[in-house]
Amino acid sequence: MQGPAVTLSFDNGPEPEATPAVLDVLRRRGLKATFFVIGQKLQEPARRALAKRAHDEGHWIGNHSWTHSGPLGDRHDPGHAEAEIARTEAELGPLAHADRLFRPVGGGGLLGPHLLSQEARDLLAAGRHTIVTWSAVPGDWRDPDGWPEVALRQCLAEPRPVLVLHDLPNGATRHLDAFLGRLEDAGATFHQDFPEACLPMWRGLPGPDLAAYVSAEGEMRGDARRDGVSETPARSG
Ligand SMILES: [Zn+2]
Repeated sequence: MQGPAVTLSFDNGPEPEATPAVLDVLRRRGLKATFFVIGQKLQEPARRALAKRAHDEGHWIGNHSWTHSGPLGDRHDPGHAEAEIARTEAELGPLAHADRLFRPVGGGGLLGPHLLSQEARDLLAAGRHTIVTWSAVPGDWRDPDGWPEVALRQCLAEPRPVLVLHDLPNGATRHLDAFLGRLEDAGATFHQDFPEACLPMWRGLPGPDLAAYVSAEGEMRGDARRDGVSETPARSG
């Protein structure tokens, strides 16, 4: 059975009440993922130790902003992007993947020009970062028991999904092992790398889709758009 080639990612950690169990499941199943961590969480030694454990177990660690306070494209105050991106990269230090992976905050999983400001884009290019987006966002943070059905449907609907889950202490991760088993039963294979469609910038080099993720100067996204988040994410293609 030819199933999807799935890339797993876990955002917004590390969390002492969630990340260890995720790592245990991945280790038992022999799977490698990427953890996009929030910079300020690493200041706490217990959380930093979890990021280090993930790194030491072969997972990739990426930058998911310092505070996760909102999409960078909604902010045009000078220095904001630098505070969110550069400070996190410095905090990651040797834990950072060589491609300097950065995942923008989506504000509910939406893809669009709200992801990056022009300052963020320029900073990421100058720092030779790789921007990683996504294609499947089942909403595990708001539906800790219902997300596996949504995730399965989303992953089976495309050949090369990049799945966003969260290592947050809301109970959602207790379904991870069974979910991965169901994916495998459906013929899925697992891959640590990212398809080109989810890499609008690679090591500082812009791809053809980059402009779709950068807001115009002074352009603010309406709050209605952000609140109207649906289960189905916009596709990056
Ligand atoms: Zn996030």
